Amino acid sequence: MPITGTHIAYLHTCHRKLWLFAHSIQMEHTSQVVAEGKLIGETSYAERAQKYTELAIDGIKIDFYDAKNKVVHEVKKSDKVEKAHIAQVKYYLYILAKNGMPHASAIIEYPKMRQKEIVEWQEEDQSEVEEWIKGVEEIMHQNECPPLVKLKICKKCSYYDFCYSGELTE
Ligand code: SF4
Repeated sequence: MPITGTHIAYLHTCHRKLWLFAHSIQMEHTSQVVAEGKLIGETSYAERAQKYTELAIDGIKIDFYDAKNKVVHEVKKSDKVEKAHIAQVKYYLYILAKNGMPHASAIIEYPKMRQKEIVEWQEEDQSEVEEWIKGVEEIMHQNECPPLVKLKICKKCSYYDFCYSGELTE
């Protein structure tokens, strides 16, 4: 299974979530929060489909890529800038560079906050992203699902029912 931006984002949020996702246990459709997020993406940015390209490359899928200016546009429903969002787009920039498209940058858009976060590729990001890839691979290849760690984000997580139903709790 190729490593996607979602794997990298989950590495920065919850290792258990990463493992579940990597093992194709997906519950996104049951989450109202995810549904709302999709709605934000669809309603606020529908017109972008005409302006930007969808780019699928090396296991990643970028919904809105401005090929002319080499800018990745990522839309987040969150009401705060999170490290996981930045890590996800840095991974996109890493994959683009690896596939002959260096010097791209990214803009993370937060419609709820009417805010934008500009992410530029830095020299030192290369080794950091490679560490993240190793970290994702290690967790993906674990035989056991990492234990439940109660986090603030759990209540909004699509795996909430799964984790807190007692089925997988240690
Ligand atoms: S509910 Fe909490 S522990 Fe379970 S996958 Fe989500 S964030 Fe991780």
